[in-house]
Amino acid sequence: MPIYEYRCEHCGQTVEKIQRKPVAQVPCPACGKIATRSVSLTSAASSSGGGTCSAPAGSGFT
Ligand SMILES: [Zn+2]
Repeated sequence: MPIYEYRCEHCGQTVEKIQRKPVAQVPCPACGKIATRSVSLTSAASSSGGGTCSAPAGSGFT
């Protein structure tokens, strides 16, 4: 089963849950607040850039 990752915005705790289906949010084990699902794995493989190839002028790029 896939592992889904959640992150608490209150204390920064990362929660990993092994679930068949992801849920929107889980209770944070550290502070009891709501931890929301963080996107992981899938977005990491996406190519960065490629669209705009305009370098900022005067960026000191030698
Ligand atoms: Zn928390």
